[in-house]
Amino acid sequence: MLRIAGCFTDEHVLWLVVVAAAVCLAGSILTVRLTLRLHQMAVGARSIQIVLTGIVGGGMIWSTHFIAMLAYEPGIEHGYEPVLTGASLIVAIAGVVLSLIVSVAKFHDRCAEMGGLLFGLSIAAMHYLGMSAFLIPGEISWQIDLLLASIILGAGLGALSFHRIKRPITRYCWLGGAVAMVLSIGSMHFTGMAAITLELNPTIVVPDSPLSDTSLAMVVLGLIIFILMMGMTAFMIEAHLAQDSKRRLQQMALTDPLTHLPNRQALQAKINDIAALTNLENCSVAVLTLDLDMFKQINDLHGHNAGDSVLIAVTERMSNVLKDDEFIARTGGDEFVALKTDINCEDDVQEFAQRLRTQVLRPIAHHDLSLHLGVSIGLSCAPQDGTDLALIKDYSDIAMYRAKKTGNSAIVAFKPEMYADDRARTALNADLLIAVEEKQFELHYQLQNDITSHAPVGFEALIRWNHPIRGRVSPDFFIPIAEETGLICEIGSWVLRTACEEAARWEHPYRIAVNVAPQQMLQTGFVEQVADALDRSELDSDRLELEITEASVIRDHAITRSVIDRIKAMGVRVAMDDFGTGYSSLATLQAFPFDKIKIDRSFVSGVHQDSKRAAIIRATIMMAKAMQIPVLAEGVEDEDELAFLLSENCAEVQGYYFGKPMNRDQMRKIAMPSTAKPRMAS
Ligand code: C2E
Ligand code: CA
Ligand code: CA
Repeated sequence: MLRIAGCFTDEHVLWLVVVAAAVCLAGSILTVRLTLRLHQMAVGARSIQIVLTGIVGGGMIWSTHFIAMLAYEPGIEHGYEPVLTGASLIVAIAGVVLSLIVSVAKFHDRCAEMGGLLFGLSIAAMHYLGMSAFLIPGEISWQIDLLLASIILGAGLGALSFHRIKRPITRYCWLGGAVAMVLSIGSMHFTGMAAITLELNPTIVVPDSPLSDTSLAMVVLGLIIFILMMGMTAFMIEAHLAQDSKRRLQQMALTDPLTHLPNRQALQAKINDIAALTNLENCSVAVLTLDLDMFKQINDLHGHNAGDSVLIAVTERMSNVLKDDEFIARTGGDEFVALKTDINCEDDVQEFAQRLRTQVLRPIAHHDLSLHLGVSIGLSCAPQDGTDLALIKDYSDIAMYRAKKTGNSAIVAFKPEMYADDRARTALNADLLIAVEEKQFELHYQLQNDITSHAPVGFEALIRWNHPIRGRVSPDFFIPIAEETGLICEIGSWVLRTACEEAARWEHPYRIAVNVAPQQMLQTGFVEQVADALDRSELDSDRLELEITEASVIRDHAITRSVIDRIKAMGVRVAMDDFGTGYSSLATLQAFPFDKIKIDRSFVSGVHQDSKRAAIIRATIMMAKAMQIPVLAEGVEDEDELAFLLSENCAEVQGYYFGKPMNRDQMRKIAMPSTAKPRMAS
C-alpha cells in the first residue's frame, strides 16, 4: 500500500492555482459587497438579496475548491462522484444563506460574528463533502489535528470577515472583510488538504462514469459565469430599487401632495436652474405671484372638502393652459408662483397672466354648488426689474399685494416705488406695537342721520392714528396690518371702551356705532369685554351698535352665531357693515339676526346715474324690508344720491353730505351742545 501524505500541497498546476485564487478573491469581494448592502437594506426587502448573495458566496466557495482540485495532479487515476459533488454545492449555498440570515438577525448583539462562524463552518462542510466525492483507487485518511485546525481557521476568519463587514470603522473596512474571507477559504482548504493521507489500494476500483477533470472544469466554468450573472443581477436589482426609491422620495419632496403641482422646493430648484442656464442681461424671465381671493371664505363656508376640490380644479385648469416655456408651483395654501422664460415683448407676460386669471375665474362646480374664486396677480420681470431672480420673485409678491388691495382680480406689474412701500409697511408694523403702548390713537365720529327728518340718530366711531413722525395714518392702511399681527384685538378693545365712555356722557341719547374686526369676534372673552365696557361707562346697552363685516360671519359660523346671540341678549345691536362687498348672501342675512344693514359706499356713489348700482341698492332694500331689517346707506355725498335713497325707502344715511368724520370736540358740539366748548379737556 502506498501512502501519499501532504502531497496535495506540492503537486499543483500553478496557473490553475492562480485561477482559483482569482476566483476566490473576485467572489469574496462580490459576496462582501452584497452582504454589506444586505445590512443597509430594509428588513422586508432582504429575502431575495439573501438568496442571491447565498448563491454567489456558496458558488464561489465551491468553484474555488474544485478549481484547486483541478490544479492538483496526483499522477493517479481519479474522478469525482457526481451526486456528492452536486450535494457539496448545495451545502455551500445553503450554509452561506443560513450564515447570512443569522448575521442580519437581531437575537444577539454578536449575530454578525455568529453568522461569520457559520460561514466558515459552511466552507468546511462543503470542503469535506467535496473531498468525499474525490474518487481514487485507494482510501483517504485524515490527520485529526490538522482537520480541526482547518475548521477553526475557516470559522475564525469567517467570523472576522463578517465582523469587519458589520462593524466598519472606516469606509474601506469591507476590503478587510474580503481579505479575511479569502483567507478563511484559502486557509481552510489548504490546511484541510494538508490533513489528508492517500492510501493507494489496487483492490479499490474507481466506480464507473465519474466526473472527469474536463467535465468538472466545464461545470465550474458554467457556475462561475452563473455566479457573475447572479452578482450582477443582485447589484442591478439593488441599484434599481435604490434609484427608484430615491426618485420617489425626490418626487415626493418636490410635489405638492394635494394638487400634484411642483412645490416651493421645486420652484427654488427651477429658479436656480434658470439662473444658472440663462444670461439674464439678454433674456427676459417673468415671475408671477398668484393669490386666490375668496378661497378662505369657500373653505370656511363650505368646508375643507370644497376648499380642496376648488384648489384641485383651478390647478388642473392652469396646468392645462401652460406652454412649454411656462411653469407653475403651489407655494402656499392658496398661493402660486408661475414662471415664463420665452418672452419677446411685454404683452407675452400680460397674456400669460390673463390666461391663468381666466382659468381661475371660471366657476367651479362642487356638488350642486357653483363656486367662484378671484385671483390677485403680481408680476415682475428680469432684466427690467433686475437680474437677481430671488429679488424678482419678491417683487412679484409685493406687486401681488398691490393687486390684492386693488381687488377685482387685478393684474399688477411691479414698480420700484412699491418696494419702498413694502418696506414702509414692515416699519409701520413695528411702530404699531409702540402706538398701542403709547396710546397714539384717537377716535373720530361720523354722523348717521335719519333720511326723512335728517336728524342725527348716532355716530360711527372711526379710529385715527397720530404717528409721531408720519402724522395721521389712515385706518384703511393700518387696520389690515393690525389684523395680520393680531394687534387688532388690543386696539379694538380700546376703541370699544373709549367709544362707550364718550357716548355715556352725551346729552342726546344718540347711538354709538363701533367697528369690530373678525378676529375680535372670535377671540375668547369678547362678549365679556363688551359687557365690561358697558358696565364701566354705564352706557345703555341699546345705544351701542357693533358693526361687523361678512368676513366675521363666515370665518366661523357657529362661534359667530353664539357670540352675536349673547351680545344681543345684553341688548346691544349688531349691524352688517359694508354689505355688497363680500358674499352678501341671503343665507347670511337669514342666519344672523342683524339689526341693520349698511350698504357699502361703493354702491351709493353716483347711484342716480348708474342703473346697475341702482338695481343692487333697490334689491338690497327690498330684501331687507322683507326681513324687517332697516338699511343705512354709507358714503352719501350729494343731494341726488340722497333723493334716490329716499325714493327707495332707505331708512338712514351716513356720508360727507351730512359731515365728514369729526374729532371729539367737533362731535361734542352736536352731542353735548350745552357743555361743549372748543378744545375742552375731558
Ligand atoms: P367703514 O367702517 O366702512 O367706515 C366708513 C369709512 O368711509 C370711513 O373711512 C369714513 O371716513 C368713510 N366715509 C364716510 N362717508 C364717506 C363719504 O361720503 N365718501 C367717502 N368717500 N368716504 C366716506 P375711515 O375712517 O378712513 O375708515 C376706513 C375703514 O377703517 C372703516 O371703514 C373701517 O373698516 C376701518 N376702521 C375704522 N375705524 C375702525 C375701528 O375702530 N376698528 C376697526 N376694526 N376698523 C376700523
Ligand atoms: Ca363701519
Ligand atoms: Ca362700512
